[in-house]
Order: sequence, then C-alpha cells, then structure tokens
Amino acid sequence: MHLRTSSERAVYFTLVAQLAESWSAVEIAGLKDVDLRTVEAVLARYTEAGVVDVVDSVTGLRYRWRSDMSYLFGAGSSAVTVIDPVCGMTVADGTPYRLEDGSRTLWLFCSILCLATFKADPQTCLSPRQVHCDKEQQ
Ligand SMILES: [Zn+2]
Repeated sequence: MHLRTSSERAVYFTLVAQLAESWSAVEIAGLKDVDLRTVEAVLARYTEAGVVDVVDSVTGLRYRWRSDMSYLFGAGSSAVTVIDPVCGMTVADGTPYRLEDGSRTLWLFCSILCLATFKADPQTCLSPRQVHCDKEQQ
C-alpha cells in the first residue's frame, strides 16, 4: 500500500489526526473535498490492509485508525506488513530500515529517509496533531 495520491493522503491524515474518532466516508469526503467513491476505495484498501477498524453504526460504516497496531507485530514475524509511521505507506517485514524500541515496539520504514526523519524527531512523527512528515514520498 502506497499513499500514491493526494486523496489517499487526505483520508490517511484525517484518520490519524483524530485517533479516538471514527469517520464515515461521507464525512471524510466532505471535510477534505474529495470524491466520495475515491474515499470509499481508499478506506476499502485500508480495511483490507488491517490498519483501520470498521465500526458498524446506525448511520452506516465508520472507520477508525488502529493506533495500537504497532504493538501487534513482534520482531521476527514474517509475511507481515506494517505502516511506516513517517509517510504512512505499508512496509514489508523484511525492510532493512527498522528501529527497535525496547522489546515491544518495532518500527519499520520504507526508506533511510523516513528512518532518519523518525530518529530525528519521533514525537513529531507520532503526534496525531502534527502529522507533517509526509513530504518524503517514494
Ligand atoms: Zn516512508
């Protein structure tokens, strides 16, 4: 999974900006002025990738970013993909760009640039209110 388009980034940053909130496709489309079908397609991919939780509410499906997912993957597991916390793209477990934080958290990055960005300022990259680390795109 790759944040290939501005629409995908718009959906991603909407979700990660309010980790406690769930969003419907209509809300994201209205908020970000993105075509509804595009938003739904992006959400479908995120759901498939397992990075969002889907909440079935009375008003329809709502989506919430799985902020806890970084803890689900331990070091050494194979065939696992995780989200690069800097740029938001999916990274394979075999990536050489990795950073272990104690024994619990393993961060994986798509490139040396994202790893360097994260090392330089992890709090900024992880802060849901200041997600501005998307300038590096592969
Ligand atoms: Zn990256």
